[in-house]
Order: sequence, then structure tokens, then C-alpha cells
Amino acid sequence: MRYVSTRNAGSGPGLPFCDILLEGLAPDGGLYLPEHYPTLTAETLAHWQTLLASEGYPAVAFEVLSLFVDDIPDADLRAICERAYATEVFGEPVVPVAPLSDGVWLAKLSEGPTAAFKDMAMQLLGQLFEYELGRRDETLTILGATSGDTGSAAEYAMRGRRGITVFMLSPQGRMSPFQQAQMFSLDDPHIVNLAVDGVFDDCQDLVKTVMGDAAFKAAHNLGAVNSINWGRVVAQVIYYVVSYLRVTAALDAAGETVTRVSFAVPTGNFGNICAAHVAREMGLPIDTLILATNENNVLDEFFRTGVYRVRAGAEETSSPSMDISKASNFERFVYDLLGRDGVRVAELFGPVLREQGFFDLSATPEFAGIRERYGFVSGTSTHADRLATIRAVDAADSVVIDPHTADAVKVAWDLRDHIAGPIIVTETALPVKFSATIVEALGHEPDRPAAFVGIEDLPRQVTDIPADAEVLKRIIDERQGESATR
Ligand SMILES: *Cc1c(COP(=O)(O)O)cnc(C)c1O
Repeated sequence: MRYVSTRNAGSGPGLPFCDILLEGLAPDGGLYLPEHYPTLTAETLAHWQTLLASEGYPAVAFEVLSLFVDDIPDADLRAICERAYATEVFGEPVVPVAPLSDGVWLAKLSEGPTAAFKDMAMQLLGQLFEYELGRRDETLTILGATSGDTGSAAEYAMRGRRGITVFMLSPQGRMSPFQQAQMFSLDDPHIVNLAVDGVFDDCQDLVKTVMGDAAFKAAHNLGAVNSINWGRVVAQVIYYVVSYLRVTAALDAAGETVTRVSFAVPTGNFGNICAAHVAREMGLPIDTLILATNENNVLDEFFRTGVYRVRAGAEETSSPSMDISKASNFERFVYDLLGRDGVRVAELFGPVLREQGFFDLSATPEFAGIRERYGFVSGTSTHADRLATIRAVDAADSVVIDPHTADAVKVAWDLRDHIAGPIIVTETALPVKFSATIVEALGHEPDRPAAFVGIEDLPRQVTDIPADAEVLKRIIDERQGESATR
């Protein structure tokens, strides 16, 4: 399998998986996608159903990945999957499913080390990075900015990985106490937490400035693990396959045969639901893809009207991991929607967005087919909806869901009457991460899993820094100098 850029005019050979694994954007500014999607047959799915029952998640993960990766030997790829999805990391079974009322199911993606679905992709990425760096005899310095979930998922995935050091910037005092404790309690010489005197945008600007210094970037082999990385998307395809297999098996055992399921996905940067789109294109029997946004409803607007309008900034909400002003993976879907016309995509996401701040596909034949051909529908959920949904699910099912998951349940309920068969909601975080909103909805704190009891009391590993790129560079120089002599 070879990979091409969404802004590629169709010329030139694609790149193999491991060549794009450590990359962010393609050199032409586009995002990488496989040159075609592999196809799943009913026989393949039946075989994987048996495999899942006998050997569990890592075995299916290997099967899915091997369709996309042909430059890692099978035995190595299998071992990578076994380490990434080990019982010690995610418990057993990996990605359990649970029914709620009304034919809605939860796919529990947040049982990993940081209690957010980002662990599902990041743990695999950590293993793949370590493997590939080892093969190339290279080291990697990851520089990132986080306002919460991404940073902690990255740190827990990259810690202890040979050849990798992480420098993670976060805005001083702006993450929740739980999120701070999760990151700052990590005691690992190759994980460096830097609390910046500023807001999240200042952190991102620092990363951009330092990455923009080509000589410094090359000297330290600086890289990122942001959500446009194809490795993250493909890792997420696996849990769509597994959720489908688990829910159909459970219904089958109850005497109810279903052939198609739908998914409802709380969406920010379009990474999670992009993987659902890929799975559907591969032929996984998915009826509808329900895209849920919060008040930052850039994508709901597009799927309802055909207009993609980037916002000046994101509004702060109680489902903060979905607070986006533009969706960084959305270009992947538009590339498919427009018949893989890289020239048109380059035009839309380049000059058109730059000059007018939006593009309008409402009059195109492609947009007319968005529901029929691609299965997409969408909706928006607000703070009041979130609270009401958390209360309703607690009352009906005695299950406490987090605010992001609540956004998806709300939109799934709104659209329920138009959709046949079960709807699987991807649970993207455990409620413990967002306890203030849970208290507001239910009047009490959410349960705290044993792994997180007392983390606020652990010693904090964090250095305060000013929003100054020269200071950041000096710290990276010093720390890397130390580890070189260790
Ligand atoms: C990152 C995140 C999302 C949004 O996922 P995208 O892949 O950016 O669409 C939703 N919920 C939680 C809890 C997250 O951490």
C-alpha cells in the first residue's frame, strides 16, 4: 500500500507507510491517504469475528493494519499490536461494548492509561515510532502543545520508548486539576512538562516558531504527534471494526440478527469520524455516520448546508476537546468526496480558504450525495443539552457519561427515528476527567477508577517557562545534551 497527498495532482509514485509515519503534513501542504482503500468482504468479517473471540483485540488489530502496512514484517507488526493493546494497558476485553436504552450502544474507548479515546491511537503510535526509529537508528524529539487530552495521551504512549523524548507545553494553570495531575505526575527523564506563562495559543505559537527554525529542527530531529498523523487515523479504524463485531455478536446471541450498524461520534478535528469514514469505504457494514459537534459547529454547518466556514476562534465549552475553529482532518474527507481531485482540494484548502475564509459545495453534485453515498448526517449539542443528556442516561441506565460522549448521545437521539438498526456511540473520555460538569449535571462527583486515586498528591514534574522561543530552545538544548552524555 502506498500513500498519496490530498493535494497531489495524481502524478508520481506514493510513499510506503513507514515513510509517512513520522511525518505530519505532506510537502505540498496536504494530508496523506492510502492510494485506495482495501476492501472487506463478508467472509473476512466472519473470519475476524472468530479471531476476536479466540485471540482478542490485538489479533484483529494486526489483520486490519496489515491491509495498510506492507513495509513491516508480519511477525514484527503482530508483536507491535500485542504490546500496544496489552491487557496491562487497556484491560480485557479491549473496547468492550455496553447497551443503553433505545438501541443505542457505547463503545468504551476510554479504558486506557489517560481515560480518553486518544490512547487507542497513541499507544499504537508509540510502539510504531519506537520500532521504526530503532530500525533507522534515529532518535526523535517530540515537541507539542496541549490544552488537555492530547498531551497526556502522547506522554503516556511515548514514555519509556527508546530514542524518544517529549517536550510538552501547556498553558499555566489552565488545565483542569485532574489533567494537570495526570501529566505532571509522570516521572520519566524523557518526558518534559513545560508550563507556559500564557494561553494555549501562546503554546502553539512557541511550537510553530521553534519548528520553523529549520537548523534547530534538523539538529534535534523534532517531530509532532498531532491529529493529522495518518498512523492515528488508521489505528482508529481498528476499533470501528471491533465495535461492529462485538455489537453484532451480542445481538446475534440475543436472537436478533443485524447486518448494519450506525455510529455517532463526538467530533472536533474530524480524526475519530474520519476513521469511521475509512472503515465504511472499506465496506464495513455501516449505515449512517452521525457527526456531533458542540457549540463550535463548523462541521455540523458543512454537513447540513455544504458551506465550510472557518471561524475566527473557538468558543470555550464544557466539552473542551471539541472546541475547534477549523477541523484539521476534514480535508481527507473532502478529497474523497470530490472524487480524489487533488487539484480542486489544493485550491479549496489553499487560496479559497485563505482569501474568503469559507468554501461552498452546496451546488455541487457531490454534496447532493453526501447522505446516500457517504452516510453522513450531523447535529449540534449545547451545554444545556449536555447536562440534560448526562442526567437522562444516568436516570435510564445508571451510567454516567462524560460531556463529549453526551454530545453524541444527544445528536443520536435527535436523529434516531430516521435510522434503522443499532447506533453505536464512541465514548471518548471517562467522566472523571470532566468532573465539574458532572457535578453540575448530577450533583455529585463521578466515580474515580482506582488507577487515578490520589494522583493530585504525587510530586509534580513541571517547569514554568515564559512564552519565549529562545528560552524553550535553550531548555531543549540542555536536556538533550544531558541525555546524550547519559
Ligand atoms: C479529541 C477528543 C474529541 C474529538 O476528536 P476528533 O478526533 O478531534 O474529532 C472528542 N472527545 C474527546 C474527549 C477528545 O479527547
